[in-house]
Order: sequence, then C-alpha cells, then structure tokens
Amino acid sequence: MILILKEEVDLEGQEYQKLLDFIANFPDINVKVVEFEGETRSVREIHLIGQTHNVPEDVLGSMAGVERVVRVSTKYRQIGKHGANLEPVGFTYNGLHFDQDCLHVFAGPCAVDSPENVEETFRQLQGLGITTARMGAYKPRTSPYDFQGHGAACLPWVFELAGKYGIKAIAMEVLKESHIEEIYEELEKAGKPTGVIMQIGTRNAQNFELLKAVGSQQEFPVLYKRGMGLTVEESLNACEYIASGGNHNIIFCLRGVKSQFGAPHRNLVDFAHIPVVHRLTRLPVCVDPSHSVGSKDTSPSGIMDIFHVAAQGVISGANMILVEAHPAPETAWCDGHQSLTFDELEQFMQDVQVVRAAYEKRIDIFSSNLVKKMAA
Ligand code: PEP
Ligand code: MN
Repeated sequence: MILILKEEVDLEGQEYQKLLDFIANFPDINVKVVEFEGETRSVREIHLIGQTHNVPEDVLGSMAGVERVVRVSTKYRQIGKHGANLEPVGFTYNGLHFDQDCLHVFAGPCAVDSPENVEETFRQLQGLGITTARMGAYKPRTSPYDFQGHGAACLPWVFELAGKYGIKAIAMEVLKESHIEEIYEELEKAGKPTGVIMQIGTRNAQNFELLKAVGSQQEFPVLYKRGMGLTVEESLNACEYIASGGNHNIIFCLRGVKSQFGAPHRNLVDFAHIPVVHRLTRLPVCVDPSHSVGSKDTSPSGIMDIFHVAAQGVISGANMILVEAHPAPETAWCDGHQSLTFDELEQFMQDVQVVRAAYEKRIDIFSSNLVKKMAA
C-alpha cells in the first residue's frame, strides 16, 4: 500500500506522527518514505510493506496530510506504475531531465582508448549539439586477452576533457562496488566538470550485490541494461533491487537478447518491449542499437541496420539512445566494427529527429482520440 502525502506535510510534524500512530495499530508493517520528482512537483510516498490487507484505505485516505492511498501489487513495488494510479515521475541529473517523454542521445566509443580520441569525440559531440556521451573505463570482455579498459587511470583526463567540451553526463559501466567509489573520488578531485550515469552491463544484470551497491548511493543515476538472457520480468526485478536500496534514478535499457533467431544481428532486437516497460513502470527507457545489431551492415536503401533499429525504438517512444561512435572506428580497441564515424553520427541524428517528429505526431493522434472518447 502506498500513501501519497500532500506536498506541505512535515515529516517532523503532528500530522505525520498521527499517521504513524494509526499504522502502528497494525502488526508487521514496515514504513518506508520514498521521494520522487513528479511532473509538476516532488512527490513523497509512504510505502507500507507487509500485511496491509486489514488496513482500512478509506480511513487512511481521510486522514490529514494524505492526498491519496493506492493499493499496489507486490510486484515492482518501487518502480511500478500500479495501473497508472501513481504520479508520473522522472529525475533531473546535472541539468538533464529524464522521464518517459524525453529523448537523449548518448554517443561515443565503446571504450576509452587515447586522450586524442576522447578529446576528438567530445569535440565532435559538441559540434553536433550533443551534451551526453558514452564510454567505458572498465570493460567486461568475453576473452581475458582482450583490452579490459584503462580503469581509474583514465578518469582524470576523461572528466577534464568532458568538462572542456560541455558534456553533462557520460554513461560509464561499473563492474564492482569499488568502481563507484573511484568514479566518485575522481569526479570530486576534478571539481565535477561533468556527470556520470552508472551503467550496469548485461553481464551483471543479476549481480545482486552490485545492484544493491548502485542502489544504495544517491549520487549517480543508473542505466540498467537488460540481461541478454533474462525476461523483462527478471530484468525489472533487478531494477527493483536498485530502487529498494533508495536510488530511484534508474533508466531501463533494451539492448537485444541472445538468440540464434536474431542472426545475422548480434542479438535479437527487443525494442517492442518499450511500451511494455512504459506501461508497467515509471522508468524512462533507453535503446542500444549498436549492441543489438553488432555491425554496420546497410540495407539497399543505404540506411544502416543500426539506424533502422534505433528508429524502431524512437517510433515507440524510447527516451534515450546509447550508440557507439569513434573518430576512427577501424583503430578502436573495442567494438570498432559497430561504431559510427562522426559523419555517420550526424546522419543518425537527422534520422532520429525525423522519427521523433513522427512519434510526436502519433502521440497527437492518439491523445486527441482519447479526448474525443472522454467527451462522448
Ligand atoms: C556497453 O554498452 O559498453 C556494453 C558492454 O553493453 P552490454 O552490457 O549491453 O553488452
Ligand atoms: Mn561495445
């Protein structure tokens, strides 16, 4: 059960104390305060966890300070939309807003390699008006002989260069808890010239200790990548782990699932699940066309498959795109075969704009139909 508090309620005040006193009449209920950023205001929810079936909804609903009472299923208690009964929410990080309506493109190399390439990446992104980048310092690789990333050593110059070119956030994978601390320390030392969104890669999608670690800090938002062999439900439960640690600033990323049926693409594209995640949860949804397709193969129209699948994501309302781009893909130390050049990224951005405009037209059609239905 979730109580949505009126905005003005003071958690130190009498109204809230009376509420707690009333709830204390029912045994085995834990009370947890959860704060979200709503569309028009911040929202404070009181989650009652445990045996709530005897708690009278109407009594609680009429108590001072309570705006609304919502009975929720136990599934996705934190991230769930609960039949759209709860306020739409999102979050702002370093001046960037994320919710189920936004669209951001995070572009850059798979892995940080040289300072020259990183600087050129940021310079090119700035030229395209992009303030959001991707790049890995810690890389989980299938073979132990492949480049594992520069690790903490590259963070000082990556952050400094990002600040120089106006990059507000870099999506960067973490593989273990100490990576969160390293990123935090290096950002502080550099004077926070940029921000970081902590990426949980598909290989760690059910690393519950790591999920708890990113969930128990509030400094960095989390980009959770769906497990390549996990159902939507299993992956959403993993996000529930993050949220129940206290961090609700989560973006859910679809990146394709492992299946022979996806061949010749690297993974079977799963972007049809965007509306599903939008319906079930309050999370913004990202798509990763690079790791889904895994090549720069091009259709007879001249459009790369990476562009086609990104378009499939955007036309369904994706809120973020994670795409690999490198100043010289043929020399990249990781995933060069699927990385766009910056000329290609410029075309990609044009294509995204066309498709986003089409998505917005679709929304107009269906919202005016909804208004007509309500008026009838
Ligand atoms: C990545 O985005 O750098 C990455 C390794 O992706 P995934 O975890 O989806 O394979
Ligand atoms: Mn990659």
